[in-house]
Amino acid sequence: MNSETRDEFRPLEILRAQLKARIAAEGPIPVSVYMAEALFDPAAGYYATRDPLGADKDFITAPEISQMFGEFIGLWAAECWGQLGAPDPVQLVELGPGTGRMMDDALRAGAAAPGFVEAAQVSLIEASPALKMVQGRTLGRAPVQPRWRPRLEDVGPGPSLIVSNEFLDCLPIRQAVKHRGVWRERLVGFAPEDDDQFAFVFGGPLSPADLALIAPELQDEPDGALVELRAADAPLVEAVADRLKSSPGYALFIDYGSARPETGDTLQAISKHQKVDPLTTPGGADLTAWVDFDRLAKLGLGAGLDVYGPMGQGEFLTGLGVETRAAALARGRDRAAQGRIQRQLERLVAPGEMGELFKVIAFASKDLPPPPGLDRHGG
Ligand code: SAH
Repeated sequence: MNSETRDEFRPLEILRAQLKARIAAEGPIPVSVYMAEALFDPAAGYYATRDPLGADKDFITAPEISQMFGEFIGLWAAECWGQLGAPDPVQLVELGPGTGRMMDDALRAGAAAPGFVEAAQVSLIEASPALKMVQGRTLGRAPVQPRWRPRLEDVGPGPSLIVSNEFLDCLPIRQAVKHRGVWRERLVGFAPEDDDQFAFVFGGPLSPADLALIAPELQDEPDGALVELRAADAPLVEAVADRLKSSPGYALFIDYGSARPETGDTLQAISKHQKVDPLTTPGGADLTAWVDFDRLAKLGLGAGLDVYGPMGQGEFLTGLGVETRAAALARGRDRAAQGRIQRQLERLVAPGEMGELFKVIAFASKDLPPPPGLDRHGG
């Protein structure tokens, strides 16, 4: 065993032992508890302890694929700022900034709008100490130095622009399965006769409050159907709504998921760019679930916001002019570089890649002009 595997091994063993002790003491735990521990346990959680992002790491995201992604987020934010009447200061907030690459590219591109970067106060909301360090390094030479805040509620008052990519898919979800006509929670417990293996087990029937988390369209699904309960997005939308109702602003969420309520298990673990069993190495793999954009739209409307989208990432970026930007980046470069840029563009926008599964939704304070590139929800 080399030193690298030894370093990884011990905290993961401790996290396993902690989860096992908890299940032995309390009984099976909700998927959301398992997910939260696996991602954010301070000693061994997946995000708490490492930087998983990049081609040579565990997974890759749009801002890591190409600078064009963050650039368009910056141009989008600058345009929204203009629509707000160019307030100075403006709070520019990113949720779950990963390596900080998107914000870095956004600030560079946003400088095209005179006054925008000078007016921006940048706040990063990041739960992972390891990633905060990476963000600090990435943004070391940025024109505005970011501040880290524990929660959106901790960002100073005033007009705001909130952006995020692949943040919502980390919010812990719960799962339920229809069994003999009754929705029962799907919990994480031990495999039969083997308390060294985690396994999914049935819990009791869902409470009326939990049942209300299942979309009406899915309530009557047949036995065997699995639904996901996404309660964690509601407080987030509430916090966004509180901000956007007290001062004008826009919020942009990009993630993967469905535009309509759907059944099915979307809990996914990724390590070294491969899908792995979500229950084998808690803390050792990224754990995410699809976002339900229909639910998000309803939450936004219910909270008194204007909602735009969802729209496919491909259509959104193409509408903003990503192809023209790719052509400009490729101009005068050698064949290999041109091929690379073309490939990056395809990954971001092609329907079979990130173009359709990844979606964009925006919230806005009431009665502002529509944000660039998005149509009104349901319109
Ligand atoms: N936006 C980046 C990173 C995506 S990974 C990109 O597109 O590359 C998810 C990011 O969200 C990580 O930075 C992770 O640590 C952070 N994160 C997840 N859940 C969080 C939470 N509840 N609070 C704050 N940050 C969170």
